[in-house]
Amino acid sequence: MEFKNTLEFARSLDAQDKLAKYRDEFIFPHVNGKQVIYFTGNSLGLQPKSAQAYVNEVMGDWGKLAVEGHFYADKPWWDYHERFAVPLSKIVGALPAEITVMNTLTVNLHLLMVSFYQPTAKRFKIICEEKAFPSDQYMIHSQVCFHGYEPEDAIVEIKRRPGEHNIRLEDVLAKIEEVGDELALVLMGGVNYYTGQVFDIKTITKAGQDAGAYVGWDLAHAAGNIALELHEWNVDFAAWCSYKYMNSGPGNASGAFVHEMHHNDLDLPRFAGWWGHNKERRFLMEPKFDPVRGADGWQVSNLPVLSLAPYLASVDMFDEVGMPALIKKRDCITAYLEFILHEIDKEVKSTFEIITPSTPEERACQLSVFLHGEGRQLFDYLMEHGVITDWREPNVIRLAPVPLYCSYEDMYNFGQILKSGILSHG
Ligand SMILES: *Cc1c(COP(=O)(O)O)cnc(C)c1O
Repeated sequence: MEFKNTLEFARSLDAQDKLAKYRDEFIFPHVNGKQVIYFTGNSLGLQPKSAQAYVNEVMGDWGKLAVEGHFYADKPWWDYHERFAVPLSKIVGALPAEITVMNTLTVNLHLLMVSFYQPTAKRFKIICEEKAFPSDQYMIHSQVCFHGYEPEDAIVEIKRRPGEHNIRLEDVLAKIEEVGDELALVLMGGVNYYTGQVFDIKTITKAGQDAGAYVGWDLAHAAGNIALELHEWNVDFAAWCSYKYMNSGPGNASGAFVHEMHHNDLDLPRFAGWWGHNKERRFLMEPKFDPVRGADGWQVSNLPVLSLAPYLASVDMFDEVGMPALIKKRDCITAYLEFILHEIDKEVKSTFEIITPSTPEERACQLSVFLHGEGRQLFDYLMEHGVITDWREPNVIRLAPVPLYCSYEDMYNFGQILKSGILSHG
């Protein structure tokens, strides 16, 4: 498609957009009395208007039924999480039994590492990507130390080549081969939070498993953003937070995936709790743990139903829209944003550098842009003019044109505001 940097053209794209109506299903912050242009749905998704009713339902049931709400609410609390299994299984490409919802992301990765990081004197190394999200770095570091290994020996980071912003697949595969039979686990982010690079989960998973290792994925920036086939790709385990692209609310619960092939393996170590116990017999309060044969067998505690409620509102909306439609708009609006950036760059004779890969299979809903020669004042200008972006020192902005609620007109308007911001101090 031939793009144009005009308001008229942007509006014509909105007019053809089948998802345009979903914009009204979200609550936008306002700046100077106007709805903001929201580019930070990769950090915290906007609130779906329907979320309030889902929360109110639980509050109402708590008032009316008190303890009886566990079994007699319209959506009983004791198995509230099971409502997520089918819709989430479609979002991440899994069997419903491979899905559970519990805790928060880093906690879940720790719990899954209890099962899938079992180092031995020979096989004890973990491969992860260089400059992974800090929580993942701390987590892996602490797990390695907990098992009595030195992080310098046990953690193998895949590096970018000098002068490059992204990690090459061939370098990941070469590193897996090099570590070989010392490799216990590959644990990477499916989409890099900083650059927006999408990794080839299928190929890396196979390579790691061929080397005899388990392979797990942090899908914080992938769930609700990219097409996933976790079951088909034979991924051992994965987890994601729900407050980024999944719009579930601040700090909210995490989804987790454990492949079917592990469900009946009772020799896998795990940290147990009563919510992972055989569902029919949970309330018999038996002394011996008998895990549910599914991802739910990794549950630990009674559910945080009040926080699951807005997540369910969001998941129901995703189910209505479907990932294929989201991905189609995602690619078009991201390409339009890229076009706008290049046009503005030409007009202001600036030097933007998009560090996100330009190949469609290696990027999704995020463009990370180096604004060479610009500083924090540009970020402040954008904020004051109603553009919410994420700024990383020294001068990278991350832009996520989330297809569920961003419009093409937003992209055009952003370009105009960016241009005046650069010219105003240039
Ligand atoms: C956002 C994010 C997290 C956050 O983890 P929490 O435990 O939910 O705070 C972890 N890892 C990655 C890669 C992230 O992007």
